[in-house]
Amino acid sequence: MSSEIKRRGLMLVLSSPSGAGKTTLSRRLLESDGSIVMSVSATTRAMRPNEVEGRDYFFVSKEKFQAMAKAGEFLEHATVFGNSYGTPARPVMGALAAGRDVLFDIDWQGAQQLKEKARDDLVSVFILPPSHDELERRLHTRAQDSEDVVRARMEKAAGEISHWPEYDYVIVNRDVDIAHTQIKSVLEAERVRRTRQIGLSEFVSALTGGE
Ligand code: 5GP
Repeated sequence: MSSEIKRRGLMLVLSSPSGAGKTTLSRRLLESDGSIVMSVSATTRAMRPNEVEGRDYFFVSKEKFQAMAKAGEFLEHATVFGNSYGTPARPVMGALAAGRDVLFDIDWQGAQQLKEKARDDLVSVFILPPSHDELERRLHTRAQDSEDVVRARMEKAAGEISHWPEYDYVIVNRDVDIAHTQIKSVLEAERVRRTRQIGLSEFVSALTGGE
């Protein structure tokens, strides 16, 4: 008899102001954990030099984005810094039903929409930078963005940070290894939440001699 207990996957949302190290942490998590897959969003923003279509985003026109939204293809969608971003619903629902977890790099608006739609499946984590100075420094070392974009993001950071109380967990990214371990711990604990282990009754009845 297999000891695998059937479980429903969870949605792990990571949000943070730009420059808090969320991209690095997402990458680390995907590399270190074979059971979590990244949700690839659609966006109307321009592709950056090191980005890959279908890996980082599905880059779509405004018209295409609107058509997808109208057709109900998004689990959530929002405007962030003047561009539209949306989470395609179908891959997420398929992964959850198959017992795989899904990682989302989305903003507070997206987290809020997922909370309304799928509270039981959602685990949300807000990543904070260690200090104001460090946040500023990290934003300025990103070469891809124009100065205008950096300034706009710095101004928005305070607004984004104000949403931390809406999240289940808050992690201060002082040290990337520690922050990574903390996210992994959240994930491991949430995976064994009783309500997600939908095969438990069956498992326990087999344990205790039932069929
Ligand atoms: P960037 O343009 O730097 O890749 O992302 C800008 C912001 O948009 C980030 O805070 C990111 O988390 C957020 N974002 C990316 N994809 C989505 C999405 O599908 N939905 C929402 N609500 N936010 C997203």
